[in-house]
Amino acid sequence: MKVAIIGAGLAGTAAAWALRQAGAEPVIYEAGGEIAPGASGNPLGLYNPRLSAERSFYSDAFPLALKAFQELRDTDWNECGALHLITDEKRQKKFTDAVKSWGWPRSEMRIVPKAEASAIAGVSINYDALYLARSGTISPKKLCKAYASAIPVKLNAPITNLGDVQADAIIVAAGMATKNLPLRAVRGQITFVKATKASEKLKCNLCYGGYFSPVKRGEHALGATFQRWLDHDQIIGDDDYDNIEKLVRVAPELADGLEIIGQRAAVRTTSPDHFPVIGHLRDNIYVSTGHGSHGIVSSIAAAHILTNMILQRPLPFPAATIQKISPGRFST
Ligand SMILES: Cc1cc2nc3c(=O)[nH]c(=O)nc-3n(C[C@H](O)[C@H](O)[C@H](O)COP(=O)(O)OP(=O)(O)OC[C@H]3O[C@@H](n4cnc5c(N)ncnc54)[C@H](O)[C@@H]3O)c2cc1C
Repeated sequence: MKVAIIGAGLAGTAAAWALRQAGAEPVIYEAGGEIAPGASGNPLGLYNPRLSAERSFYSDAFPLALKAFQELRDTDWNECGALHLITDEKRQKKFTDAVKSWGWPRSEMRIVPKAEASAIAGVSINYDALYLARSGTISPKKLCKAYASAIPVKLNAPITNLGDVQADAIIVAAGMATKNLPLRAVRGQITFVKATKASEKLKCNLCYGGYFSPVKRGEHALGATFQRWLDHDQIIGDDDYDNIEKLVRVAPELADGLEIIGQRAAVRTTSPDHFPVIGHLRDNIYVSTGHGSHGIVSSIAAAHILTNMILQRPLPFPAATIQKISPGRFST
């Protein structure tokens, strides 16, 4: 079974990896001159399930991501854990409900008081938090390369007409360039800062609307801005200060003296209901896009779903979940 995949970001390369594991013959066509030139090209990202009061696609997707990371090499994977700070009542309710309804073991997901959060983080934390022990950091760029390592990738190969593509099945994983869907662009910028004596003690990710990752090679990543009205990847100087300001609000002692040493901007693809768009489009054409700000986790779940759809195997998610993420939900 020959499968053509349009786009060499997380969605496309993960799909290729899953298809190859299942015995298919994927080929990736990428418009850019390298693997992951777009949103997936960040050198560091946090992998988290998107948190919600009820169990969702993301709670089931997360273990699939961990399984893939265990099988891949050279991805800078660091299972350092994440503290999602409870900064307001809304987050308190959402996180408490999630702990109850997701049913994950206490060792992997629990609310911790600020003293325990501080012990986990290795620095003083001023908030109670939701602790996700198996979250962490990984390099999305390296992850894409690892997924694609045994796959033919045609670079500088923009596909303008799907009718020209010779394959038994086609997966469109082209981010915002995916046509005929109500997709929305959300520009974002991450900032890299030099570690200080205080910040280098941090042992896990801090998430608070923004995020701050533990030190790696003397640097931290601070994320990320969200601009729903922008769709370019130019650097905006003020964004770095926005990212630092978000950290100042929750952990001023960690933010003190941070020196900006780099940044990267790109465009996320989101959908109106904030779930990704994964499934059958028409004829032999499938789609994986709309991964928003949780693409590291959702793209590998999408990869397994599409692989099983294309190979006509039982789907790894309940039918209600498949419906919730399907492109067909926008036409009803
Ligand atoms: C600043 C920022 C920070 C983020 N941080 C995180 C994070 O910490 N954790 C997390 O999980 N997610 C994060 N994300 C989101 C994550 O990066 C995305 O969800 C993910 O990269 C989406 O992958 P994708 O493959 O769908 O899109 P893309 O990476 O954009 O890939 C689409 C690819 O399709 C190619 N393409 C387009 N049109 C064509 C065509 N006609 N022919 C061939 N190829 C084509 C493009 O060149 C591109 O390479 C972040 C995003 C941004 C912008």
